Amino acid sequence: MKRGGHPPFSFYTWNDSRMQLSRYLKVYPWQNDRDLLLLYSTRQASKILIKSEIYHLAEKGMLSPTDESLLAELGMVVPDRLEEQKSMMGIMDDLNSKNKILNITLILNLECNFACRYCFEGDIKGKYYLSDDTADHLINFISERFTGTKKKLLIDFYGGEPLLSIRCIKKLSKTLKSLVEARGGSYGFTLVTNGSLFSRKVAESLAALGLETVKITLDGPAYIHNINRPLKSGAESFDTIIRNIKETWDTTRIQLGGNYETDNYKHFVLLLDYLIAEGITPDKISAIKFDPVSKYPEKYASEYMGGCMSLDEPWLIPASAMLREEILKRGYNTPAQRLSTCVVESSDSYVINFDGTIYKCPGFVGKAGFDIGGIKNGLKKQPSPYKPGMWKNDECISCSYLPLCFGGCRYMAFVRDGEINALDCQKSFLDAILETMIKQEIKYHVSAEGH
Ligand code: SF4
Ligand code: SF4
Repeated sequence: MKRGGHPPFSFYTWNDSRMQLSRYLKVYPWQNDRDLLLLYSTRQASKILIKSEIYHLAEKGMLSPTDESLLAELGMVVPDRLEEQKSMMGIMDDLNSKNKILNITLILNLECNFACRYCFEGDIKGKYYLSDDTADHLINFISERFTGTKKKLLIDFYGGEPLLSIRCIKKLSKTLKSLVEARGGSYGFTLVTNGSLFSRKVAESLAALGLETVKITLDGPAYIHNINRPLKSGAESFDTIIRNIKETWDTTRIQLGGNYETDNYKHFVLLLDYLIAEGITPDKISAIKFDPVSKYPEKYASEYMGGCMSLDEPWLIPASAMLREEILKRGYNTPAQRLSTCVVESSDSYVINFDGTIYKCPGFVGKAGFDIGGIKNGLKKQPSPYKPGMWKNDECISCSYLPLCFGGCRYMAFVRDGEINALDCQKSFLDAILETMIKQEIKYHVSAEGH
């Protein structure tokens, strides 16, 4: 067997070990060739193209030793499906025990220099900033948790607009960098910014302090972006952002995002062409991903979701497949499908609001009853409102999509059903789109790590 490309040649013999097909496996036809099948392990995000006859031998546990060992390495056959299920039950404990990263999402302020058309935070936005006193408590909070097992501190700076708090980013980064380096660890941070203040000078100064990735939003070509994302003054922002990207691409990794709607998503292709024409080529951008604008009831809406959630409106399937294809076709990278978990499952991820209140999920920031404590007084003793392991039920544990879903997004479940500890099943969405996505990844050589 070969990974992708040509049909495999295989001499097989009866095999006593009789490995079984993994539960976390998808099998798709390959073009119009009835002799070939594409196998995709949702657990390992591995892919292989094999002869149909070999797949049928795998179904019967009759693979040759060579084929069996290759498929086992790819996570596609396992010694025992029941054992595989049991090991899946413990996967989060395993991931948490091996996790060397302490991850903090920090909302530095609620102020923004933009007045985005779809921003639901309008009512609560204002001059709310992380104070020096709260920053000091934050350093203590991190210091207590950056213990011997942790090797990296990763902070995601959010706002409002985080670059309105640049003094605070610099001060915190200097202190935290020396704190974790003194303990043998490393420090890095990301910025989720509208891009208007990300000048060369700012980028260079932040890169020296540990800036690893900046995530900038462009809502389509200028004629759409400028309507959706004007400055507060009403002035257009598109040209400033493009200029900043051109001036800073060599200082840090730049990821581009964008929020599309049903009536404008086709125009995003013009943005991709514009980027190339302006010299913002795939070698200068680490990834591009477009997401639909969230249409939530206002009382539940949040701008902090960062593409975390999925939606299941029917138009989104062709829209997201088409935009992904257009991104990849032009040579840009986009995130590959892979095992993904909600941060509710992670024991070392916290979302901290500007006032020091701690949450698990960015979607619940500021919502009463969903904090898990504060950085001054620590985590609450009573059980967290976010219960991990909602997917530990018979249906999910035997579902082939489990490693890509793990019960979906709690915030979506909350918005839809008013219940945070409920499933947000991704089955129909993945049924409709996963095959296309996997085939795109093969066509354009996308891996979980990028090109
Ligand atoms: S609940 Fe949803 S939005 Fe919140 S962290 Fe989990 S996946 Fe992301
Ligand atoms: S929520 Fe749905 S898609 Fe996700 S693991 Fe459970 S059954 Fe599968």
